[in-house]
Amino acid sequence: MDGQLNNNSEVLCCFCGNYLSLKDALVLSIYPNIDSEESQQLFSHKNHFIEKIVKSIPLHPDFFEDDTE
Ligand SMILES: [Zn+2]
Repeated sequence: MDGQLNNNSEVLCCFCGNYLSLKDALVLSIYPNIDSEESQQLFSHKNHFIEKIVKSIPLHPDFFEDDTE
């Protein structure tokens, strides 16, 4: 995790453009392609991620642990 962030940090949701607290955010570590050696971290509201993902893809149960936005 980025050393500059702590649990009180505000991060930008990459789907809606609004800020949320890091402790409530979903963390996306993405690699531009399979050979990439460095990942980029993005953040989003859990529900905004779930809405974008095709329903047939099973998601980790932690995605559904609470209903907070
Ligand atoms: Zn959002």
